[in-house]
Amino acid sequence: MDWYFKCPLCAKERRTDWGNVGELIRCGLCKKSRKVPGPSDQPDAYVGDHSWPIDMEREVFRIKGKDCIIDGCRDKEITLDHIKAHSKGGRTSVGNLQPMCKSHNSSKNDSDFYIWLRENRLKARQ
Ligand SMILES: [Zn+2]
Ligand SMILES: [Zn+2]
Repeated sequence: MDWYFKCPLCAKERRTDWGNVGELIRCGLCKKSRKVPGPSDQPDAYVGDHSWPIDMEREVFRIKGKDCIIDGCRDKEITLDHIKAHSKGGRTSVGNLQPMCKSHNSSKNDSDFYIWLRENRLKARQ
């Protein structure tokens, strides 16, 4: 799985294999070696796939909690939702993922989260 992150030194976008997170690699642009940042270091760093690695899921739960993002929803079967749909260019990153129950997630499908909320008269929890 490809992992797109910003070099901590030159801030240019770099790509490596997800398996290299935490490993020392040399940036081809600034020619310096640094550890590859992970999802807790860079919330906007993203994987190239629709599905996410377990470490990214843990980080989303740590920041946003493990309950469905819909206010008042008590459904405990939780998955992650792409706030901006992956099919519409939304990235698989901590910043673009949020916890959502499977039934709300299948209703949302690939709609934009905020439009879908409005159309269904739902609110996101704070
Ligand atoms: Zn660099
Ligand atoms: Zn829900």
